[in-house]
Amino acid sequence: MVIMGNTGAPIVTSKEELLQVIPRRGPIHRPCAKCQKSPEKGKTFMECAQCKQSHYCGRECQKAHWKEHKPLCLQRKAQQEGWARAEEAALKAGKIFYSPKTSQAWYRKNTDIVSHATFHVLELYKGPSASLHRTHIAWFELSFDKDKPKDVDAISLHDVKAAPLDIIGERILGAATVAHIKHGIELGMMPCIMTNKELNAMTMEMHQAPEWRLYTSGLKKPDENWKIHCILMAGGALDKVV
Ligand SMILES: [Zn+2]
Ligand SMILES: [Zn+2]
Repeated sequence: MVIMGNTGAPIVTSKEELLQVIPRRGPIHRPCAKCQKSPEKGKTFMECAQCKQSHYCGRECQKAHWKEHKPLCLQRKAQQEGWARAEEAALKAGKIFYSPKTSQAWYRKNTDIVSHATFHVLELYKGPSASLHRTHIAWFELSFDKDKPKDVDAISLHDVKAAPLDIIGERILGAATVAHIKHGIELGMMPCIMTNKELNAMTMEMHQAPEWRLYTSGLKKPDENWKIHCILMAGGALDKVV
């Protein structure tokens, strides 16, 4: 596939080129929420039995993290119960239900794209002080297929923007989530939100930031066409035309 840029130069010429820009990294391996250790390749850590979202290398780390994790865990559990109720009500009323679980599944499937887009939209290549890393969240707008609302492969990536953390935090996320985000940022994570236009399938993830120094040292240049590359890759456009 060839897309012509303003200058007449091709932006993307082949699938290989795109994979060079956004390498496929496979499924995510969540680090221990306490010590940040990563599991061995192909393995996953035990998950919190309550929220099923935080992972731990062992009981010791889980126990040590509980006091800090508790507010977020309770909030997540309440949120999941809320989703289940909303789904039941929607189905009863004969309405389409866009589940946040589906956008969560989309994230897990597309972490390579999320990583690339978040890095660019938060301008991490500018370095720790000049980037939007501490003040903004990467906001992913997804389009669900209304005929297949639970089909993660029917979701398409519509847009990615940088959203101010204080506004989103106050209006949508709540204090416990903002505290979790700020802590994650300190540990080098990039906050991102996956949602749809109607804001009824929202999910938040903390994504491990790539190596900043590669960019700040000038070894690697940011991808000027990151948005079009991400949309192409998320839409599987190249798979269809190449
Ligand atoms: Zn641990
Ligand atoms: Zn939990």
